Formats: sequence, structure tokens, C-alpha cells
Amino acid sequence: MTSFDGAGGLATTSVTTSETLAHVDPEVYAAIQGETQRLRETIQLIPSENYPSAAVLEANGSVLTTKYAEGYPKRRFYQGCAWVDAVEDLARRRARRLFGAEHANVQPHSGSSANMGVYFAALEIGDTVLGMDLNAGGHLTHGSPVNFSSRLYRFVAYGVDPISERIDFGQVAALAREHRPKMIVVGATAYPRVFDWAAFREIADSVGALLLADMAHVSGLVAGGAHPSPIPYADFCTSSTHKTLRGPRSGFALCRKQYAEALDRAIFPGLQGGPLEHVIAAKAVMFHEAARPAYREYCRAVVANAAVLAETLLSEGLHVVTGGTDNHLVLVRLESAEPAGRAAAAALERAGLIVNKNTVPGEQGTAVNPSGIRLGSPAATTFGFGADEFREIGRLVAGVVRATEDETLIARTGARVKEMCAAVEARRDVQAGTEGAAERVAALA
Ligand SMILES: *Cc1c(COP(=O)(O)O)cnc(C)c1O
Repeated sequence: MTSFDGAGGLATTSVTTSETLAHVDPEVYAAIQGETQRLRETIQLIPSENYPSAAVLEANGSVLTTKYAEGYPKRRFYQGCAWVDAVEDLARRRARRLFGAEHANVQPHSGSSANMGVYFAALEIGDTVLGMDLNAGGHLTHGSPVNFSSRLYRFVAYGVDPISERIDFGQVAALAREHRPKMIVVGATAYPRVFDWAAFREIADSVGALLLADMAHVSGLVAGGAHPSPIPYADFCTSSTHKTLRGPRSGFALCRKQYAEALDRAIFPGLQGGPLEHVIAAKAVMFHEAARPAYREYCRAVVANAAVLAETLLSEGLHVVTGGTDNHLVLVRLESAEPAGRAAAAALERAGLIVNKNTVPGEQGTAVNPSGIRLGSPAATTFGFGADEFREIGRLVAGVVRATEDETLIARTGARVKEMCAAVEARRDVQAGTEGAAERVAALA
């Protein structure tokens, strides 16, 4: 072991030493252990979360965090960038190939920064932009009053039809004619249906607007062939990387060649300093994994499992927004006298079912206590749950939502959730050939 404090990450052995986290910082170590256990014993149903692979985590935790690399590959402001250039070039090339895009920028720290980068590249302060209403499923960066987007630009919100709860293209077209936006933003955090990129392109063209496809939630499904691609229609595409794509917590942006220089300049030096090359490495691994046949199978399972979840919740008598789902997420409107999202999400957490409270179309409550909950299949599908388990999960969720103060039922549900998690983990271990796994499965049966 080297004598330099902090250089322990360079050690090539994995032996526990005085520099490993458990010794250096037992408190942080304990929190990571606790979180690991939580992820193994509860069912993750938040549609914007996922379990990245060990390879993604390894790249994300690598020595590449050491390097300052302001600029872009071969055009850096720092020396010593040969290896981070190689990594960032791989990430850019893989992103372009995976989505069939003309240009990729993999430096945005998150989906929100990717959106900011696109706005800086394409808009002037004060320009008019059409974006989806937050209550209808839009994102903070699409003009929410509490977000920078509404302070720098004049956002006009489109929503969904109150009956079908689907995007109202008549309204989008009318608002576009009335407000002549410079850009139309398409994408949502809580919209369970396919985005009709072509219909938005047509409306954008009718008023000479740019089209930004914020595919943060569905980018993985796009890559895996389970959702139509916005690339043929959009001038810009942005995304987070930690949702269906199953990468590290980060973002990226794609665009047509004609906007490449403006986009790159907007992200650096426009809004960020040095790129996070360790995270870019993890994104490169993620793009690589998402190009494999197994990932296409995963995406098919994600959509199939979400459909089973939606059908089960419907058959249990819950109001599923739009009557179902085409993608990975399910939005439930809790029909009660008072907004019930907060109490439902808290009760579900006590039962080991991790969802988030969410606003719904026509929301009467607030973001802090809204009328809905949002569920999704990406993480639990990665964990190993299939259609049968998702049917059971749907029944368990409905039971708790109907009786959020029945602590006996909640405790019983929590015990069953733990059992289901242990069973699926044991099954995974059998497939991986882990020693003693078959015996554990037999014991659980
Ligand atoms: C998640 C999301 C983002 C970006 O979120 P970050 O947390 O900044 O990565 C942007 N747009 C939409 C529609 C999203 O769902």
C-alpha cells in the first residue's frame, strides 16, 4: 500500500485495508450498507429509478473522478486527457449509434442540465416556449413557476383532455397558433402513454417552432425498441440516464448536426465547468449495455409488467389515469374527498412498497399533498420480478391504498414483500450459479 493518503483507490487488490471505507468512515459505510439492504428487502416501484449494473457502478466509482477535463475530447484546457478523451469519445459514439443521432453531448450532469443546455443553445431570454403542464405530467424544467425555466423564458402550458386524460393535440395546435412559440417541449414525468412525436413535429412546423423531445423517462424504451424514437422528428433530444436507461445518475443531449456547435458551447463553457469523466465512463458502459439484445428483452418485460400492474389495479377498482399504460409507468388517481397521495405513499412505504405521491390531471391538491400515486416497473423488473409477481404487487398495493391506517394489514403486506424479495433474489442466485442458492430456494418454497 502506498503511503499517500487518498491514493488507495489506485491499489490493484481488493483486500480490506486501513484505507477502505468501512475503516475510514464507518458512518458513511453504515448508511451505504443500510441502503443496500433497503434495496434488497423492499420493492422499488418509483418509475424514475432503476438498479444499475455492477459494471456501471464500477465505472462510476473509478479513478476517472480525478481528472479535470474542461472542454471536449482533443480540445481540452488541461493536459493529461488521453484516457478521459478515449472514454468520452466512446460515450459520444455509442450514444449516437444507439439512438441514430447526428450529434451527442454526454457532459450534462443531469436531465435538468441537459434541458438548460438546449434552452441556452436555441433560445434567447424571454422567448416563448410551449411545454406540458406539471399537473398533466410535465417536468419542472418545462416552465414550472418554481423553476429557472419559467424565470428565463415565457412558458405556455398545454395539458391533457379531462376525459381521455391524453394529450389534447387540438389544444396544443391552438396554443401554438396563438402564441407562436420558438420551441415546443415534449416529454413528461408522469404520462403513461406513447408520445406521438410526429404529431408534435407537424404542429411545430406549422408555426416554425423547434422541437425538443425530453425523453428522460422513456429513453431506455426508445433504445430498446419499446417506444417510438423521437430522433427522426426532433431538433433536440434530452434525457436522464438513471431511469429506464439504467445508468448512473446523470444526463445527455442529442441534436441535429446544425445545432451541434451551439449545444456544445451552451453546455461548456455556457453552464458547466469540468465534466464528470467517471460518470461519463459509467454512461459509456450504460450505452454499451443498452445496445445488447438482452436489453431489448428487458424493455419488453418492463412494458409487459407495467401493463399487468395497471390491469390489476384497474380490476381492484382503482382509477388508473388514461385507463392503462403503454410504457413503464402507471399513474393512479385516488378518488377520495381529500387529496390522499401523501398518506397512500407513506402507508405503502411502511409495507415495503416504494412509490411516490404525484399530481394528476385536473389536480385539486398540491405537490406536497397531491391526489395521486405514481408507480412503475423498471427497477422491479431489473430486480427479477415477472408478470406473476407484478399481479401480486398490484393486489398488495390496492389493499394498502384502500386501508392506509390498517397497521395489521400493512405489517402482513410488509412481511409478504420481504418474502417475495428473498425469493426472487434466490432465483437470481440460482441462475448465476451462486453456491448454496438451490438450497435457499427450496427452503423458501
Ligand atoms: C427526470 C426528468 C428530467 C430530468 O431530471 P434530473 O433529475 O435532472 O435528471 C427531465 N425531464 C423529464 C421529463 C424527466 O422526467
